[in-house]
Amino acid sequence: MTLILDRPVRTNRTAISHRDLTPAQQNGWDSLEELTYDLEEAAKKGANVVAELLLAHATAAQFLGIDLPAGDTLTKCSCAGCPDDCDAIVPFSACAEYLDGNVQRTQCTPCVKDHRRYGN
Ligand SMILES: [Zn+2]
Ligand SMILES: [Zn+2]
Repeated sequence: MTLILDRPVRTNRTAISHRDLTPAQQNGWDSLEELTYDLEEAAKKGANVVAELLLAHATAAQFLGIDLPAGDTLTKCSCAGCPDDCDAIVPFSACAEYLDGNVQRTQCTPCVKDHRRYGN
């Protein structure tokens, strides 16, 4: 069996729109989100998953061509107030968070600048 991966794109971007990813990259992103959820659940039960989580996100950032600071993770902007339905994948440290009902949402830097929300 031959596994063909998309070549990493090295553009030193700090964000990439989810809808601009190739289908293979979108599948990869979905897997990363699932893995992240599973690791966070394991962490709640006391498992030490920090190294695994950071390695998974650093690897994903390489393949998506996003600059990710050491020790940071990736997240997708889930801002609810976007005129253009932002779905930017960005370093978590560059985001703001707010509570929308009981949904935790993240806003990427341009969204924070344009239409910052403060939640409930
Ligand atoms: Zn927005
Ligand atoms: Zn955004």
